[in-house]
Amino acid sequence: MADINDGIGNAGDNRFDLPPEVLDEIQKNIEEIIANFPVPEDNKLDVIKKINFMYSHTRYLSLTDALTGLYNRRHLDSTLECEFLRAKRYHNELSLAIIDIDFFKRINDTYGHLCGDYILKEVAYIIYDTFRKTDIVFRYGGEEFVALLTETSIEKSEIPLERLRTRVENYAFQFKDNNIKVTVSIGAASVNEKINSAGELLDNADKALYNAKNGGRNRLVLSQN
Ligand code: GH3
Ligand code: MG
Ligand code: MG
Repeated sequence: MADINDGIGNAGDNRFDLPPEVLDEIQKNIEEIIANFPVPEDNKLDVIKKINFMYSHTRYLSLTDALTGLYNRRHLDSTLECEFLRAKRYHNELSLAIIDIDFFKRINDTYGHLCGDYILKEVAYIIYDTFRKTDIVFRYGGEEFVALLTETSIEKSEIPLERLRTRVENYAFQFKDNNIKVTVSIGAASVNEKINSAGELLDNADKALYNAKNGGRNRLVLSQN
C-alpha cells in the first residue's frame, strides 16, 4: 500500500503522550531555556534548531495515532469544536461521518490481532485517500474512524461516503495466504440550525451509524436530524 505517512508524517511511537496545552507551555519556555543555556555563541543556532525539532516532533506525536498515522481522538476533540463553531458562525456547511468496520472482532478472532492491525492500517489509508485534502480524518477508537467534511452538505457527503463504502467492499485485503473481505458501516450528520453543539453533531452521526448496523451493515445512513 502507499505510505500514509507521505501525507501526514511519521507517527513513530506513542511515548510522548502530552496534551497540546502542556506542549504550548513548553514552547513558551523554549526561548528562556535557550537564553540560559551554557553553550558557546557559535553553537546557539544548532541548539535552537534541535530543541525546535524535538518540540515539533513531540507535538506531532501527541496528535496522532501510532498504528495508522491518522490524527487521534484528542485532536478530533479540539478540531471538531473549532470547525463546528466556524460552521455555525459563518454558516458554512460541515458534515461528520463515523466509519466503523463491520464484524471486526471476528477478523481478529479468525486471523489474529496482527491481521486485525493490518486491516486497520489499510482501511485507514483508504479513508485518508478517499477524501479531499481539505477534509480531516481521525482514528476515533479501536475500529472506528471519523471524517470531517468541510464545506460539504449532508446531500453532497453521500457521493464520497458511498465511494468509500464500495472501495472497502471491493478492496483485495490479503494477509499471509488469506484473502479477506471487509465492509464498513457509515453514519453521517451535518450542521444545521437545530444543532447547538459539536457533541450533538457527533451524536446524530452515531445514531445514524447505529441504524446502518441495524439495517444490515455495509451501508451508509445519513441523519435526518
Ligand atoms: P460491529 O459490526 O457491530 O461493529 O462488530 P465489531 O466486531 O466490529 O464490533 P465490536 O465493538 O464488538 O469489536 C471491536 C473489536 O475491535 C474488538 C477489539 O478487539 C478490536 N480492536 C480494537 N482496537 C484494536 C486494535 O488496535 N487492533 C486490533 N487488532 N483490534 C482492535
Ligand atoms: Mg465499533
Ligand atoms: Mg465494528
